[in-house]
Amino acid sequence: MSVFSHKDFDHHEDVHFHHDPATGLKAIVAVHNTSRGPALGGCRMFAYQSDEEALSDVLRLSRGMSYKSAMANLPLGGGKSVIIGDPSAMKTPALLQAMGKFVHSLGGQYIAAEDSGTSVPDIEQMGSMTPHVAGIQSKLDVDGNPVSGDPSPSTAYGVFVGIKAAVQHKLQRDLNGVKVAIQGLGNVGMYLAQYLADAGAKLTVCDINEEKLNMAKLRWNANIVSVEDIFAADVDVFAPCAMGGAINDQTLPQIKATVIAGAANNQLAEKHHDQAVLERGILYAPDYVINAGGIIDVSYEGPEYSAKKARTHIDGIGDTLAEIFERSDATGQPTELLANKIAEERLQLRTPEHSL
Ligand code: NAD
Repeated sequence: MSVFSHKDFDHHEDVHFHHDPATGLKAIVAVHNTSRGPALGGCRMFAYQSDEEALSDVLRLSRGMSYKSAMANLPLGGGKSVIIGDPSAMKTPALLQAMGKFVHSLGGQYIAAEDSGTSVPDIEQMGSMTPHVAGIQSKLDVDGNPVSGDPSPSTAYGVFVGIKAAVQHKLQRDLNGVKVAIQGLGNVGMYLAQYLADAGAKLTVCDINEEKLNMAKLRWNANIVSVEDIFAADVDVFAPCAMGGAINDQTLPQIKATVIAGAANNQLAEKHHDQAVLERGILYAPDYVINAGGIIDVSYEGPEYSAKKARTHIDGIGDTLAEIFERSDATGQPTELLANKIAEERLQLRTPEHSL
């Protein structure tokens, strides 16, 4: 297995491997860039088929976190960790504590948060061994309601703000009556659907979970379609909120929406799809820009947490996207390429706007 010559290595500062025979823990922490601050990123637990697959995933995700935090103007670098194993079979308190010790051994270079396969209680378990964890603080939201450390509601709010900005730019209107297709009603998709319904949007949804579809029908009178038919839905906005790679050679020709804006990471299956999307007249909100609400909220955790300050910062996602859209119109370049250029400039800078 190559590391330095791996196709996704891309200037990583550090890649740490760890095995704890007592608990069966096999984990990798990838630290892509710490020029703006410690590398904060989720800890993913997944039954990878091979060590190579786990390494590719952690390298790709860690680099993505550097770009996401830079575009959100956070004093954070980019990192990610993976635990190799089926969470439903292998996850034990002892294994999570061993992961906590591994994270602690890195001395704060990497800060772990939730990702797929890990939850708030799991990160709390790691936190019994290290202070270098995030996404676990119970707090009050902007309306004064108690919320857990789960970043998903803030991610959904950021995506909602981003969809508003994209619709304003592309269709010159607000969300009232705009038709939005949401692919995946998970932790983010459900909250997003509520924000959109409250703004008067008409929802079309799909999921592999029947119960969630029934809930969407009941709550928002959503139009239910199959997972295959969501791409061709007759809507204004397509919001991928399930897995990566939703925009690919098979799905792109089917898409009727003129805006693609959703929560999923790595929405474009391959690099060339940013140009392909542009050529089809579709406005694409780069995924790591629009889905930064969760990490923005987490970055404000601490005794001084202010939901209002975090919310104001998340509202900035709309302005960042508007700037990218305008530059894309002016230069004819795809939005993702432009976002990457801005992020890369910022990764050379040390300009944190607030302290952790
Ligand atoms: P989740 O696992 O809670 O939800 C995913 C949903 O998609 C589930 O309801 C699942 O049943 C559904 N799904 C699975 N396969 C599907 C398919 N083929 N078609 C339609 N639906 C399908 O995940 P989440 O936390 O809501 O995150 C959604 C996406 O957003 C992921 O790509 C995640 O990486 C990304 N993201 C999440 C956050 C966050 O704060 N949770 C932050 C940034 C990015």
